[in-house]
Amino acid sequence: MLTQAPKGTQDVLPRDSYRWQAVEQAMRDAAALYGYREIRTPMFEHTELFQRGVGDTTDVVQKEMYTFNDKGGRSITLKPEGTAGAARAFIEAHMFADPLPAKMYYVSAPAFRYERPQAGRLRQFHQHGVEVFGAKDATVDAEVIALAMDVLKRCGLGGLRLAINSIGCPNCRAAYHDKLKAWLKPLLPSLCKTCGERYERNPLRILDCKEDADKLTDAPAMLDSLCDDCKAHFDKLRANLDAMGIAYTVDPRIVRGLDYYTKTVFEIITDAPEGSLTVCGGGRYDGLVSELGGPETCGIGFGMGVERLLMVQDAAGVTPPAPRLYDAFVCTLGDKARLEGLKLVTELRQSGVKADLDHAARSLKAQFKYADKMGAQYVLTLADDEIAKGVVKLRDMEKSEETEIPRSEITDLMKSRL
Ligand code: ATP
Ligand code: MG
Repeated sequence: MLTQAPKGTQDVLPRDSYRWQAVEQAMRDAAALYGYREIRTPMFEHTELFQRGVGDTTDVVQKEMYTFNDKGGRSITLKPEGTAGAARAFIEAHMFADPLPAKMYYVSAPAFRYERPQAGRLRQFHQHGVEVFGAKDATVDAEVIALAMDVLKRCGLGGLRLAINSIGCPNCRAAYHDKLKAWLKPLLPSLCKTCGERYERNPLRILDCKEDADKLTDAPAMLDSLCDDCKAHFDKLRANLDAMGIAYTVDPRIVRGLDYYTKTVFEIITDAPEGSLTVCGGGRYDGLVSELGGPETCGIGFGMGVERLLMVQDAAGVTPPAPRLYDAFVCTLGDKARLEGLKLVTELRQSGVKADLDHAARSLKAQFKYADKMGAQYVLTLADDEIAKGVVKLRDMEKSEETEIPRSEITDLMKSRL
């Protein structure tokens, strides 16, 4: 118990964290090119925010939230996704009074969902994401999708499948709901319990059910019931994607897990041998800000699962090489040399050379071995001899070459070889 992380959580160990840093850098670099700035919101919010903002007919709210009462008796929930918190901050900081759109992103933001842990499904996971508030034109839908694809491409994943759909707006969805309910009615007794509950409150959500998916393949599609405004928006999105050279398929089965989506929804999917995996999901949420009590403001965004992104990188064999830990490792023999070694390491570090020395009181031979194991590019040796002669012994580990360099020149030489 004591030495086992809670179910559904994962450590990122020092030997692996460069992989996270690389995909985080990819997100930051891409976001900067598109004019997005970072937002950081708290890890927990008032439970009500998610009930309203994610929607209480969703799996996330009905089954998956980490909710508890704090010592002041408030109901608190660890955030299950990033959009509701960003929308709350948008309203609270009066960002609607700033020039719009407000374009923001987040990197490896923790998210919590009480799910049955399995491959690609954790209880604490992390999301990159973006949110754009106050832009209604379909150019921004295309931009958000392009940005997600760009991030994945920078992570070495160019060939993932983009699927788009439109789930309409409150205007056209009511008529569609009636049509869908009529079609679903005879099936109702055979559907799962949750679907039964959703039938009256939010039948569209039934199409998102993983248990009943097979029975629902012929269900009427929202796409065929769009109002003129939603249809025009979807056509524009398609034209915009075409203009940007972004390939996609239209998939009427994508309805997305969250309640607040309107019009555009999309997923980026990889067809792995173990089954398809959604790496990124997003869409437009024009009703969210007003639902939360802010002024009528449209919005769009995506959430990208970082653990899933790393899984797909693994499967595709595109993992980046581990960075070098040490440019130079200083080995010393004797107390005097040890102090000189410490001075040298300090000097090297101040000049931007990644350097270290033995901290475990090893023999000289064991220090060499350690330096080799840690992948040091150069080993610098100091013993009484070298100190007396005013030199440092320099060993190029790759070439197995050894030379003596004047002590006064060694730091500049190391710097020049980086
Ligand atoms: P799914 O259908 O796989 O349950 P979802 O619709 O619940 O996904 P979103 O709410 O759209 O997922 O979250 C955005 C992204 O976050 C997903 O595409 C996925 O990459 C990732 N994600 C969602 N839930 C988990 C989880 N439990 N563990 C790891 N990653 C997750
Ligand atoms: Mg889910």
